[in-house]
Amino acid sequence: MRVKCPKCGKEGVLVRHTVKSKGHTYVYTAVKHVKHGRIKRCILGRGEPAHPEVGYDDVLEALNSLYQHAREKARSGDREELERLLAWIERRLNPLIARIYEEASAILEQK
Ligand SMILES: [Zn+2]
Repeated sequence: MRVKCPKCGKEGVLVRHTVKSKGHTYVYTAVKHVKHGRIKRCILGRGEPAHPEVGYDDVLEALNSLYQHAREKARSGDREELERLLAWIERRLNPLIARIYEEASAILEQK
């Protein structure tokens, strides 16, 4: 979304800017400007703590790490963790993803 930046008065794009600090992820609203091919961001609302947020990649990493761990255990003969993971995917994760996907698509299909 193109906006006139409230900080510098130039035109830019409203974005969410993610900053990682000390293991926490903070999300700021920012206006992104491109000047001579370089990106400059004006961060809006600095001074107010942004809400820590889990990023998409954090979710994938966590899921993958659960799987790697369970797979290693299964390879050394302990299949319990991997069975638990499969059951969790089937009963909890898949239904959640299906519901989110369905609801989000329906929202986007509305004008
Ligand atoms: Zn600006």
